[in-house]
Amino acid sequence: ATASTADVGAWLADSDRVTVLTGAGVSTGSGIPDFRGPQGVWTRDPGAAALFDFDVYRFDADARRRVWQMRRTNPALTARPNAAHLALTDLDRAGRLCAVITQNIDGLHQKAGTDPARVIEVHGTVHWVVCLSCGLRTPSPEVLERLEEESDPRCLACGGIQKTDTISFGQRLDPGVLRAAVAAAEECEVFVAAGTSLSVHPAAGLCDVAVDRGATLVVVNAEPTPYDAVADAVLRDPAETVLPELAGMALAAR
Ligand code: NAD
Repeated sequence: ATASTADVGAWLADSDRVTVLTGAGVSTGSGIPDFRGPQGVWTRDPGAAALFDFDVYRFDADARRRVWQMRRTNPALTARPNAAHLALTDLDRAGRLCAVITQNIDGLHQKAGTDPARVIEVHGTVHWVVCLSCGLRTPSPEVLERLEEESDPRCLACGGIQKTDTISFGQRLDPGVLRAAVAAAEECEVFVAAGTSLSVHPAAGLCDVAVDRGATLVVVNAEPTPYDAVADAVLRDPAETVLPELAGMALAAR
């Protein structure tokens, strides 16, 4: 992959069918650490990764208490969108995007003004809590404020274990959401993977879906990914710099 930022800008200028897959790296510029980057949550504390295992969460009350305590101060609840999110909103408003598929749970694409109907959250959202027994959904702030009195707040309807509406390891993705993501990968001409280590499946496999259908693959990531070798372009600068540059070129050309 030897294509330049200018080449990618030209590809984007030529297409009304762009699908973007985003990961934690588009939100580090908003003050939310990623998991696997140099300053990542798991790079600094490898033990924290176990808390993101679904069975650990379900069967270990101490793990749940630790997770709820982490949620209280989770920057994803209060962060503001950065230039990377806003650039994708510009492309969306210009009618260029099939979808933004995001592995992020922070809701920042919607906060930035990207049409919520075109944001596919494959790993769920931290802004809602769901009961694992009866499925009742509650806005996160309502559950988090109960943490003063309860360290493991149970469902007010049935007493079941509650969890933020996010996907842990060992937890099934929502089949309808996954289908929508696959469809968006299939229908695009250009597939941009931005700020993701492309190490979590099935999300990373969406690159294969797009390439198999003939799409051009662009990787925007600070570190190498397993898809760099098949990508048509690999851009290493920060997503909050690269995506505004690309959007600027794509929109100026028409
Ligand atoms: P990841 O931590 O595996 O990878 C992030 C990648 O982004 C790394 O390769 C890193 O080098 C790169 N990166 C960091 N800052 C960047 C920047 N400014 N510009 C360009 N690249 C940058 O994250 P992932 O691939 O999204 O997958 C891991 C899981 O982590 C996902 O399931 C996701 O749900 C979850 N996660 C989400 C958030 C969030 O919602 N903001 C934060 C942390 C983790």
